[in-house]
Amino acid sequence: MSFPAVRMRRLRRTQALRDMLDQNTLNPSHLIYPIFVEENISQSVSISSLPGYVRLPLAKVAAEGKAALAQGCKSVFLFGIPAKKDEEGVSSYAKDGIVQNAIREIKNVCGAELVIIGDVCLCEYMSHGHCGIVRDNEVLNDPTLELLGKIAVSYAEAGVDVVAPSAMMDGQVAAVREALDEAGYDQIPIMAYSAKYASSFYGPFREAAGSSPKFGDRKNYQMNQGNQREALREIELDIAEGADMIMVKPALAYLDIIALAKANFNIPIVAYNVSGEYSMVKAAAENAWIDEKSVVREILVGMKRAGADLIVTYHAKDIKSWLN
Ligand SMILES: [Zn+2]
Repeated sequence: MSFPAVRMRRLRRTQALRDMLDQNTLNPSHLIYPIFVEENISQSVSISSLPGYVRLPLAKVAAEGKAALAQGCKSVFLFGIPAKKDEEGVSSYAKDGIVQNAIREIKNVCGAELVIIGDVCLCEYMSHGHCGIVRDNEVLNDPTLELLGKIAVSYAEAGVDVVAPSAMMDGQVAAVREALDEAGYDQIPIMAYSAKYASSFYGPFREAAGSSPKFGDRKNYQMNQGNQREALREIELDIAEGADMIMVKPALAYLDIIALAKANFNIPIVAYNVSGEYSMVKAAAENAWIDEKSVVREILVGMKRAGADLIVTYHAKDIKSWLN
């Protein structure tokens, strides 16, 4: 049968029909709310390339957890900026490190209502800004694994709910799983940054977290933008190493990777709607070139439609205003 017996517009006639037949709806529970917390500041510091976002002092971080809950979000994602950086990233796994303290502050106030996810990486803690130990201008894989395990355990000791290794070192999921299990944290899930591309969309985050590499780039550990098969292998390996959820990052230019992950693996898929994607929308909206709320909805529902179960997004901050 075809036209005129078939008329696709019949099911689009009213808002109620359209709502009834909605395949992908946005739910604040599925959005992960990022938080930047900085050591040794007493006032929030705005981030010029990430409009509406700040680096928070420790004293304000629990209130931000509450703010996430008020938006309907169930989870926050913590990124720390330490007072001191060095060549070994020692403050990344310190008992009283900035993220460890922030986890305790938020847990105290929000309890089990809010899932706290800790980003496990070294770039914010290293004076050179790379995601691992550097010797002779080379980022070393295996020695970095031990540090990632230490960070994850220190977060677990502080009360984190989920750890998210993001350094793109080979074997990082297995190393983190093993370290957690040995320390008695076999119930802490791993959200693995599996398909993390070497992207130009990370610029505003690097301003936010002070994590730009001081030499070279990240192309020998993050993925080549042109590749799909490599993403599937990375995801497959991370699942074999014990990942409980996998991530594709960035999201907007990589929707095909999200769709491929969905088609190939039975595991929750996280899309990271990264800083540059957010800032482009903000900049255009500030110029009144686009309608921010409807564009944000369209972008996020597109990620859902591609196959994302969860989305890390800076837009989570004001989700209530654009959901209605
Ligand atoms: Zn990193």
